Amino acid sequence: MKQDYFQPRDLKSKTLAEIQSEFKELGLPKFRALQVYRWLHRGVEDFSQMSDLSKALREELSQKYEIAWAEVEQKRVSKDGTVKYLFRLPDGEHVESVLMHYHHGTSICISTQVGCKMNCSFCATGQSGFARNLSPSEILSQVQSASLDSGERISHIVLMGMGEPLDNYESVLRFLELVTSPEGLNVSMRHISLSTCGLVDKIYDLADRRLQLTLSVSLHAPNDEIRSRTMPVNKKWNMEALLRACKYYSDRTGRRISFEYAMIRGVNDMDWCAKELAGRLRGILAHVNLIPVNDVTGTGYQKSGLDRQKRFVSLLEAQGVTATVRRTLGSDIEASCGQLRRKAEGGTGYES
Ligand code: SAH
Repeated sequence: MKQDYFQPRDLKSKTLAEIQSEFKELGLPKFRALQVYRWLHRGVEDFSQMSDLSKALREELSQKYEIAWAEVEQKRVSKDGTVKYLFRLPDGEHVESVLMHYHHGTSICISTQVGCKMNCSFCATGQSGFARNLSPSEILSQVQSASLDSGERISHIVLMGMGEPLDNYESVLRFLELVTSPEGLNVSMRHISLSTCGLVDKIYDLADRRLQLTLSVSLHAPNDEIRSRTMPVNKKWNMEALLRACKYYSDRTGRRISFEYAMIRGVNDMDWCAKELAGRLRGILAHVNLIPVNDVTGTGYQKSGLDRQKRFVSLLEAQGVTATVRRTLGSDIEASCGQLRRKAEGGTGYES
């Protein structure tokens, strides 16, 4: 597999097997690789912290390799306990992560790119443009850094922060391999969700890998007319192509797909939208997650009212599609993605 999505010096992006083979070439005994891998995944920032290695070896490794890290630059804690982090990466770029507490454990929403190319009209991340992909180690570092800062073990991960995970596919696949490794954080693949705006070719590829992760698809519309207006990706892969890929995914993996639907007043929240949506989802193992849209500066979009949300759920359910309105956590700290980075870089942030 081509490896230009991370630098050869980036040790934390490498699998245990790769570190073993590189260490072998350096003439090091095999157990050293496991020792170092464990340190990396426990979240050390520097080789000097690897206390069971000789000083000479630590020196040698620091000449040859680097350890990526996500430094907490800003942190906001919500009344409900949700914590939003703004992380600074080694090159000075910023990404956001959000730590949330549920009865089933602690969950983190992490970023996969600095910015995003997808330009969905309602999304703050797209408004600040695309800077670069994250390396596997930078994706992992968000989990480690938040876990060390909060003192909590993170049991659930959602790839739903800044960026489009399937547009940084190789890094994301490798991150999944690293974070689920028994010698690393050992997070269960069943506790990981990946959210995509609908890169159809990658959905097929992912389906064939038959990973036990949950696929979330940002649908946000019942038809192409509305979807193309709000999500440019729909011009490349329309809803028919996307839903065919989703059906393939659920058939192949046996996993239910979670469809995200941000309710925007007067745009996609009318009764007929719910009916049309239910018709489109027939035959797919699906669950619809409704989210009242967050008002992003400049879009003019408003969230649907509570009655509308409830009505939408009941219309979907009447047609056999299960749906829930997602609980909003951290609304007092602007927990949705894209907001802090914009502020850090001089943007205006959100109105709500
Ligand atoms: N690129 C991926 C993941 C990042 S966005 C994707 O598109 O799925 C995470 C989720 O937040 C997506 O469902 C996205 O559509 C949604 N989202 C973005 N801006 C939003 C807003 N202003 N209000 C509500 N949801 C929003």
